[in-house]
Amino acid sequence: MWYNNILETIGDTPLVKLNKVTRHLQGTILAKIETTNPGNSIKDRMAVKMIEDAEKSGLLKPGGTIIEGTSGNTGMGLAMAAVVKGYRCIFTTTDKQSKEKIDALRAFGAEVIVCPTNVAPDDPRSYYAVSSRLAEEVPNAWKANQYDNPSNAQAHYEQTGPEIWEQTAGKITHLVVGVGTGGTISGAARYLREKNPHIKVWGIDTYGSVFKKYKETGILDKDEIYPYITEGIGEDFLPANVDFSVIDLFEKVTDKDAALMTRELARQEGIFAGNSAGSAVAGLLQLGHSLTKDDVVVVIFHDHGSRYMGKMYNEDWLRERGFLQDKKLTAQTILNK
Ligand code: PMP
Repeated sequence: MWYNNILETIGDTPLVKLNKVTRHLQGTILAKIETTNPGNSIKDRMAVKMIEDAEKSGLLKPGGTIIEGTSGNTGMGLAMAAVVKGYRCIFTTTDKQSKEKIDALRAFGAEVIVCPTNVAPDDPRSYYAVSSRLAEEVPNAWKANQYDNPSNAQAHYEQTGPEIWEQTAGKITHLVVGVGTGGTISGAARYLREKNPHIKVWGIDTYGSVFKKYKETGILDKDEIYPYITEGIGEDFLPANVDFSVIDLFEKVTDKDAALMTRELARQEGIFAGNSAGSAVAGLLQLGHSLTKDDVVVVIFHDHGSRYMGKMYNEDWLRERGFLQDKKLTAQTILNK
């Protein structure tokens, strides 16, 4: 038995019980480990769905160029699908993104243009603006536009939501998801809420992002916007793919708590996951006092730890940011004496 190409291996990711980091919470806490997708992230699902919908609608033509502003994981999915399907890829990204992520896109033959992080989305230097300009000027180009493209959330309505429902035999009571474009949480939640409208949906946000305040007040507060370290989640605008009507609440997690929890997932659970998995679990710990023993919580682990080797998996990086202050006596400190 074989797959006809690598794209057919996307999906059917495992659900794994967390046993230690969440030991003070009631209920069963399950992580949906999206790192087993071939691009090592959940974004493979929506990348292929966006391409296939664009092919069907005629927006993406044979031999065309796919253009996107991406922090890496969507780019990885798009680049992989483009190789299989015969498209060229151009990505714009920000200088905040890990070098590993950018190199991985180039490994698939994609062109990557690195833009400054700390400029407004409508600044001509922003990665949004540069990708829009390229989409206009490159012949036969199609901009995937993951923030507003409904195929993004639809991929999770068709795949992620049903997988979670089946894997928990319909017992899921809470869905906890880091929110960036909003595709994952909105699509999965829409499906799960159709099955059981009582399921609670908790979005994980970051300090420096607008989602939580907007959900609570209906105001897009510019004072909420400032630079942050956490990757993959939070935004300084409201993507169309964030469906606030299916999200009960947002919880913000600090960069430090997200980084340290990401490490604990490896150290305590043996799960080598990315930064937003740590954010989601840290956010769940902040909210989890309301859980009861019959609750079944699913937390999405979006991507793989290998993309963060120079960041939260690097002790110098943590120390430089004041995230690691422990003076634990390690073998190396003994040898250094
Ligand atoms: N975590 C990581 C690592 C991501 O790359 C993304 C996508 N930006 C998210 C979480 C958020 O997912 P979504 O865009 O579907 O809201």
